[in-house]
Amino acid sequence: MGWMTEDGLHEGYVVPVFADGVRGAGISGGGIPDDQVIVGSHYDDSDPSRPTTHYETRPAAEAIGWCIACACRDRSGLLLDPEKQWVSALLARVPSRSLEDVSGGRIYAADEDVIYVADGGEVEEQLRRRWTTEHAGGREALARVVAAQERVRQAEHELDAAVAEARASGAVWEDIAVATGMKRQSAHARWRDVGERELRAARRRVDAAIGSLGAAPGDVPQAEAMRARLAEPDVADAVELLRASAHSRRSDQD
Ligand SMILES: [Zn+2]
Repeated sequence: MGWMTEDGLHEGYVVPVFADGVRGAGISGGGIPDDQVIVGSHYDDSDPSRPTTHYETRPAAEAIGWCIACACRDRSGLLLDPEKQWVSALLARVPSRSLEDVSGGRIYAADEDVIYVADGGEVEEQLRRRWTTEHAGGREALARVVAAQERVRQAEHELDAAVAEARASGAVWEDIAVATGMKRQSAHARWRDVGERELRAARRRVDAAIGSLGAAPGDVPQAEAMRARLAEPDVADAVELLRASAHSRRSDQD
């Protein structure tokens, strides 16, 4: 009976409203006659062999109208607190079909139809449109904004990494500027610090490799061991990165 947004985070439905503000629970059946509105339920399993659900009801004749409610969830799929869930303004119940004006917020329903007012047909279509316009459509667009922003962040991260790699491989700021369609100065300002973290990590790896040998000057076997250690793939990468960085620093001063 509900309408779901594509992302599954919002489910709109229509429930009767009473003069004291109590709303229907949005459920039917359970042996409750059609001219009664279920406003609450209580699951009773004190006797495990015969668990039963007790329903609290109100006469449909007392419904003064309906509202469109939404079961709103946050991005992780958890239901929001009841007071944060969206509810439309009251759609008033009018006493005859001729007074009905659904788009104007006035609806007619005989008592036995009160709980089914939005079950198909033109009335449901109009109420669904209202839910979309006033609430769900905007929420869904907002969710797309969040997702798009996330992709932008991801792309920027990839861009930074690619620039750092290009720089480490000898590309000069002119090259980066051409590749990104930016002015050399802007490219330099934006990315001069990119790769600093990688460089620091590389420095640590090389320092650790050297430190692990405790080489003494003039000690030939130690020097050989250090050469071997520096040739290990991850250490060699770090050495290469530091060398390229030193090179690009020099070319910056041009
Ligand atoms: Zn919602």
